[in-house]
Amino acid sequence: MAMHVTCDHPGCNESVVYKVAAVWRDTRFRELKNYGFSCRDHVGEVFRNAERRWQSWPRVEGEVVEEVGIYDYAPGHRDSQLERLWKLEESYRN
Ligand SMILES: [Zn+2]
Repeated sequence: MAMHVTCDHPGCNESVVYKVAAVWRDTRFRELKNYGFSCRDHVGEVFRNAERRWQSWPRVEGEVVEEVGIYDYAPGHRDSQLERLWKLEESYRN
């Protein structure tokens, strides 16, 4: 059964097309830490909200959380298979 994921922007029920996430890693593991899902219209808001939470995240020695990125959301795909949308990210960075 496919799970229907909706945009994280308050009040929005549109389908998700982007995943906002940051690479988390330590000496043994590497994974995508999820910071939010967004529809086509709210990726800017969801991305900036994620960056604020990323900045306030308590850093732990031995762990690295890379900058927040925007990924093409593809249900059923592993995180490592998701395409990172660098140009879209750049357009929302200050
Ligand atoms: Zn939305």
